Amino acid sequence: MRIVLLGAPGSGKGTQAQRLIDKHRVPQISTGDLLRAAVAAGTELGRRAKATMDAGKLVDDATMLGIIRERLAAPDAARGYILDGFPRTIPQADGLNALLAEIGQPLEAVVLMEVDHERLMKRLTGRRTCRSCGRVFNIYTAPPPVPSPCGGQCVTPDLFHRPDDSEATIGKRLEVYESQTRPLVEYYGSRGLLQRVDAEGDIDDVTQRLERALVRASERR
Ligand code: AMP
Repeated sequence: MRIVLLGAPGSGKGTQAQRLIDKHRVPQISTGDLLRAAVAAGTELGRRAKATMDAGKLVDDATMLGIIRERLAAPDAARGYILDGFPRTIPQADGLNALLAEIGQPLEAVVLMEVDHERLMKRLTGRRTCRSCGRVFNIYTAPPPVPSPCGGQCVTPDLFHRPDDSEATIGKRLEVYESQTRPLVEYYGSRGLLQRVDAEGDIDDVTQRLERALVRASERR
């Protein structure tokens, strides 16, 4: 399985990718996670990327293509992968095509996760990630199972709020999605690879719709 999950920040790409990896036994490759790991490790890449990420802007295409080239060459990606957050621009998509053509393994499907704008804001402002396992919760829609000591909406200590999920940065990230990433819908649509999925509502229902979209894509091949 070689697929791309495409969608605005907060559309549920990461959450759904985590659900697909067990069943399909392929890794989730999240460029956001790779960059955050580089920032946490204080590498040269992390130092360069941090300010751009905190501002809600995109890291440059050459850097991103370098990261993806290296990650796709790892042994666990030989059986396929779910790309989450990459590509995000037309040059990245062109670069990915060229890379996959080199190894004779083209993409099988690009799934567009469609969510209404207002809901995206709520998902992003409420998003909290577990520091130890990376699981994503939402204080409004999918709170962590352990109740907080006060019984209210307090966040348990090992959950963190991504710095780029602040309201100011979210606006910028959605703007960047519209101008730089949305053109990929047409790009992949014209190549017959695009499947649209309604990504609103219950998480299990979205997973089912996603699985059905993958079946439709495989029937088209
Ligand atoms: P994400 O976790 O996918 O929302 O990514 C968080 C941030 O990492 C983005 O807002 C960008 O600053 C950066 N980033 C992640 N993936 C890419 C990409 N494919 N191209 C450029 N920047 C990226």
